[in-house]
Amino acid sequence: MFKKICYTLGLAVFFLLVVLSIKNANLSGFIDMVENKTFDLRQTIMVNSGVKKASEDIVIVVVDDASYEYILDNYGEWPLPRDIYAKIVDYIETQSPRIVAFDLMFVKSLKSANQADKALADLFKKYGNVYTAMNLDNQSEDLRTPPKLPEALAVNVKNYSNDVNFDALTFTNCRAIIDDILNYSSNIGFINVSRSDDGILRTMPVFVKYQDKFYPQLALKVGMEYLRQVEGINVDNFEIDANSVLSFGGRNILLQKDGSAILNWYGPAGTYTQIPLYKLIKAVNHEQTDLDYNFHNKIVYFGTTAASLFDIKSVPTDKIYPGVEIQATYVNNLIDNNFISKVERFSTIVISLILAFIIGTIVLRSKSAVYAALVSLGIYFIYVLSAYYVMRFGNVWFEVIYPLIFSMLAFIGTLIVKYLIKSRDFEYQYKLATTDGLTELYNHRYFQEQMLRQVEQAKRYESDFSLIIIDIDHFKNFNDTFGHQSGDAVLRQVALTLKRSVRATDIVCRYGGEEMSIILPNIGKDEAYSTAEKICKRVAEKTYRLSGNRESNVTISLGVATYPYDGSDAAAIIESADKRLYAAKNNGRNQVG
Ligand code: GH3
Ligand code: MG
Ligand code: MG
Repeated sequence: MFKKICYTLGLAVFFLLVVLSIKNANLSGFIDMVENKTFDLRQTIMVNSGVKKASEDIVIVVVDDASYEYILDNYGEWPLPRDIYAKIVDYIETQSPRIVAFDLMFVKSLKSANQADKALADLFKKYGNVYTAMNLDNQSEDLRTPPKLPEALAVNVKNYSNDVNFDALTFTNCRAIIDDILNYSSNIGFINVSRSDDGILRTMPVFVKYQDKFYPQLALKVGMEYLRQVEGINVDNFEIDANSVLSFGGRNILLQKDGSAILNWYGPAGTYTQIPLYKLIKAVNHEQTDLDYNFHNKIVYFGTTAASLFDIKSVPTDKIYPGVEIQATYVNNLIDNNFISKVERFSTIVISLILAFIIGTIVLRSKSAVYAALVSLGIYFIYVLSAYYVMRFGNVWFEVIYPLIFSMLAFIGTLIVKYLIKSRDFEYQYKLATTDGLTELYNHRYFQEQMLRQVEQAKRYESDFSLIIIDIDHFKNFNDTFGHQSGDAVLRQVALTLKRSVRATDIVCRYGGEEMSIILPNIGKDEAYSTAEKICKRVAEKTYRLSGNRESNVTISLGVATYPYDGSDAAAIIESADKRLYAAKNNGRNQVG
């Protein structure tokens, strides 16, 4: 019974903590943050062990520090005049790249640069495989009126998932790019990002929402073009199914609640082949002829890595990671169908409960807490290791922090419950050692202990206490007449009568055989005597039920002694009470001596 209560209580507390941790936004936010760090760690280990090979089909033309310096030296300012880009793309296109994508935004025309802008815009007319970027934001209308975007840029998205909503990726304004490109080309994708609470970028938006339409991410557009060219797949419409999975062209992307996709990371900054922009400028200006690189069939991304152009993010595998490499990583995920699927919270809780159950059972079963701790740690370690390998080989993210918390709670909780049960067992053992089995009075040993204690206390506080010794009259005869069973029954009933006749603080013991004793703390001579008289009367008046539905009466004789009048130690008090008991017997029994 007690054990059951303990378990139920333990379970109740456990579930309460579980519910609290899930419901409490602060706490679950903190847990999520720590969980994210474990994701980073897993990704970093995977990258370092070389399991993920970045695609060789992607090359980045970087505006690195050297190129930035070169541009300042030769053109006097950043940005680079746009006709130079046009020249460079013309140069690259001679080698038939798959795609040329600018992770750069060509906003607003400078009046003086109309010709240069036109040269750039012409590129998009000349080559169908040139892409560029735009960015949505939430700027106020004071700054600029939200522009209308061409129909051709939007995509059809049907969302059948109840979990995914695009609230966080819905924007109210847009920084439009130069009209010549915007109105002509549909090869424009958005480059908005979505960061975790700690500022690290682990996921990327697939679509962003603006004026009730969905617009695709630049990398998604590039990936779709790659699918079209390499696998002959045309994607016209997107559908997010009830399980929040976006599937197209054999790619399956499990979307997060905010509509973003978790990327697999291929390495730190510099993972993708980089060609400094200045080398291309030199090549097109015929200053340098030996650009030792061929762009044939490559996805060529233009972007910045120069520190002063600050398009730098923190990602799981690096703190200083260029935005353009995020685009490359994204496209790489699309090429490899490598997106990470995070196991939903419900399954995580179920896994955590199973772990908690296993660890709870181990703690209950094992004799040593240290052993249980080691085994529990081992089990959790195996779980973590499995979680790592599942991510490594299956791209699935099993959470490890909730399972850790549940396991620890189960460990501590079970240990506490076990301790409670143990202390309860101890109490039971103690009771067993101090109680008489037949009468359930205190036994002789306890009686002796208490006598010593009472003497000590009475001495210290200069108080008194009394002792009554009781012996049932003619009990041998009684046994002979009614049998031992009936004798036992009477012993029990007399014991009960004694208990009910005294205060809770009085100590009723079975002294031995059919003799009982009562210690009355802080009770003087007179009061003890009258208590003894009262008990004598009560026992005599009572009718006792015997075996075989018979009834009978018994009487008792009593001897009373009081400390310090009748002796100065326990033995003397007992002897004195004994003497008076014999006096009572000699005097005719059924009386106080
Ligand atoms: P007296 O009035 O002088 O006390 O007579 P008595 O027969 O009670 O004498 P005594 O106290 O010496 O008797 C002890 C008897 O009590 C012996 C035994 O038969 C009986 N007795 C002792 N312990 C138990 C017990 O646990 N159960 C039963 N049924 N009888 C017991
Ligand atoms: Mg006796
Ligand atoms: Mg007797």
